[in-house]
Amino acid sequence: MRTTIEKAAETYGVASWGSGYFDINRKGNLVVKPSESDDGIDLKDLVDDLTRRGLSAPLLIRFPQILTNQVKRLHRSFKSAIKEFDYGGRHRAVFPMKVNPMREVLEEFLREGGRYDYGLEAGSKAELYAALSMPQSSDGLLLCNGFKDAAFMEMALIGRLVGKNVIITLEKLSELKTALEVAERLGVRPAFGIRAKLYSKGSGKWEESGGESSKFGLTTSETLEVLRYLGDRDMLDTLKVLHFHIGSQITDIKRIKNAMKEAARVYAKIRQKGIQIEYLNVGGGMAVDYDGSRTSFESSANYSMEEFANDVIFTIKSVCDDEDVPEPNLITESGRIMSAYHAMLVVKVTEEIETYVEEVAPMLKVSSDDPTVVSELYDLHRSINSKNYREYYHDAQEHKEELFTMFNLGLISLEDRARGESLFWEVSAKALKYAQQAKYVPEEFEELKSVLAARYLCNFSVFRSVPDHWAIEQLFPVVPIHRLKEPASEFVTLVDITCDSDGRMDKFVDLHDVKQVLEIHAFDGSPYYLGIFLVGAYQEIMGNNHNLFGKPNEAHVVVDKGGAYHIKKTIPGSTIGKMIEYARYDREAVRERFSSMVDISVKNSDLDEEVGSRIKDLYDTHVEGITYLV
Ligand SMILES: *Cc1c(COP(=O)(O)O)cnc(C)c1O
Repeated sequence: MRTTIEKAAETYGVASWGSGYFDINRKGNLVVKPSESDDGIDLKDLVDDLTRRGLSAPLLIRFPQILTNQVKRLHRSFKSAIKEFDYGGRHRAVFPMKVNPMREVLEEFLREGGRYDYGLEAGSKAELYAALSMPQSSDGLLLCNGFKDAAFMEMALIGRLVGKNVIITLEKLSELKTALEVAERLGVRPAFGIRAKLYSKGSGKWEESGGESSKFGLTTSETLEVLRYLGDRDMLDTLKVLHFHIGSQITDIKRIKNAMKEAARVYAKIRQKGIQIEYLNVGGGMAVDYDGSRTSFESSANYSMEEFANDVIFTIKSVCDDEDVPEPNLITESGRIMSAYHAMLVVKVTEEIETYVEEVAPMLKVSSDDPTVVSELYDLHRSINSKNYREYYHDAQEHKEELFTMFNLGLISLEDRARGESLFWEVSAKALKYAQQAKYVPEEFEELKSVLAARYLCNFSVFRSVPDHWAIEQLFPVVPIHRLKEPASEFVTLVDITCDSDGRMDKFVDLHDVKQVLEIHAFDGSPYYLGIFLVGAYQEIMGNNHNLFGKPNEAHVVVDKGGAYHIKKTIPGSTIGKMIEYARYDREAVRERFSSMVDISVKNSDLDEEVGSRIKDLYDTHVEGITYLV
C-alpha cells in the first residue's frame, strides 16, 4: 500500500517538475536540495526559523546554489553534445537580464559562471548601465539587444574601451548608422551582431515572437544591406554574431530544430561570402516544465536541457557539413530555465472563505408559510438521487434565478433568500457528489467543483509575486510545505489579499490536465504554509504595486556540505512609507498633514490633547510597517 507521503508526492508532482531540487521528507515536510548532493534542508524548519527572526510570510526565499547548479548543467550539456558530435566550435552562454535583473542573481551567475565565461545580455539602457559595472571574466560576452538610441550606443562603446567584450546586436537597419557615428566620435572599433528574422516560429504562448511578423530583427534584404554598408567601409570584420531568438518557453523541440536548420543555413550562406562571422547566437527559449508533464503544453516542455543541447549542436553541425563551412561558436541566451528554479514564495493561509456554510440545519427546515420557490428547492434537496441529479441540478439553478428575481421585486424576505440560497448549495453539493460517482463527469460539474470549492485566503499579492498567473494563466506548482503526512481532504482555490477579484490562483499543475482546484489540508487555524515554486524567472521584475502591496520579506539561503543551512542575507519587505512614495506622496508632508488635522480637532475641543498626541504617535509608527497582514 502506498503511504500518504507517496500519495502526496504524486498529487503535487514534486519529482516531475522539481528537476531534482525538491523532495518530501519522512516528517512530511518539503525539502530543498540546492546542490542535488545530500538530503537537503527541511523547508518548514527554515520558514519557522526565519519567522522567529522577524521574517514572516509572504517570504521570497532564494537559493543561490540553484543558480550556479543550473550554470553547471547548461555547461555540461553543451560540453557533452560538442564532444559527442565532434562539433568544431565552442559554446558561450549569456544571461538575459530582463529575466531577473536583481544584483545578487547576476553576481551569483558571474561568480560561478566565470569559470565557463558566462556573460550577460542587456536589452535596455538601464540594464546595460548596471551590467557595465559587473565584474566579468575577460572572455565573457556582454551582448546588447533591444532597440537603441545614440545614448545606448555610447554606453555600449565605452564598455569596449574599458576592455569588455561588448557586442551591439542590430535590431533595425538605422541602428547601424547611429552606432558607426558614435563609434567614430569615441574613436572605438565596434563589434556587431545582426538579429535576423526567421521564417520559423516557436511554439506556446510566445509563438509570435518569431516568424515574419515578429517585432524584432532584420529581413533578408536588410541583412544584405548591412553587409553591403559595412563592406563599403571595409568594416566587415566588425560583424561577429548572427542572432536569432524565436520566443520564450518554446514547448516543442521540433520547433527548435526547425529554427536551427534555418538559422544555420543563413549563417552558412553569409560565411560562404567570405565574411568570418564568429558566433551563431541561438537566443533563449529553453522551456521550464512547470507542470512536470514533459509535453508541448504551454506550461511544459517536451525535452530536457541535454536534448536541447544535443539537437542544437547536431542540427547546426549537419547544416555546416552540408554547406562546407566551419561550425560557428555557439551562443545561448537562456534565461527562464537558468533562474526559474532558484526562487520560491512561501505564503500563509489566513482564513477559509466558504461559498456556503454547511450544517446550517435550521436553514434547511421548511414551514408552511415558505414561498413556493423555497419549498420547491426543499423538495429537490430531499429527493435528489443518482438517477435524477442532473435534471434536479438544472431545476435548482432555475429556482435560484427565480429566488433572486423575487427578492429584487421585494416579494421575499432576507430569511427566505438565505434559506433558498442554502438549499441551492446543498442541492449542488449533492449533485456534484453523484456526478463524481458517475463514469463520465460532465463539464458543468467540473466547473461546479471549483465553484463549490472552499477558497483559502492567502497573505500575498498575485500581482506582485506571480503576475504571469494573472496575466497569461501560466501555471506554477503550489504545494503545502508541511503536513504532507496527513491526507489532503479539501479541494480549494486560493485568493490573495488584494481588493481585486483577479487576485486568485484557480489553475494548478497536473500531469494530464489543468486542475481547477488544489487538493490540500483542512485549515484549522494553526499556521499553514503553501510554497509557490519556480518563480525565479520574470515574476519578480514584472510584479507590480497593485493596491500598494510591496515586496515581500526575502531571505538568501545556502546549504553546506554537512547539510546545514545558512541564512546569508535577509531583506525586509517594503514598508508602507516606501510604497506611498511610489505613488508620489511625500512621507514628511503626509505626516504633517495628518498631524495638523489632529491639531485642529484638539483646538476645536473635539479631541483631548493627550489623545491627540497618542494618535499622532500611532500614525507615525505605521509608516515603517509592512504592507501585508501581520
Ligand atoms: C527574453 C529573451 C531571452 C530569454 O528568453 P528565455 O525564454 O527566458 O530563455 C533571450 N534572448 C532575447 C533576445 C530575449 O529577448
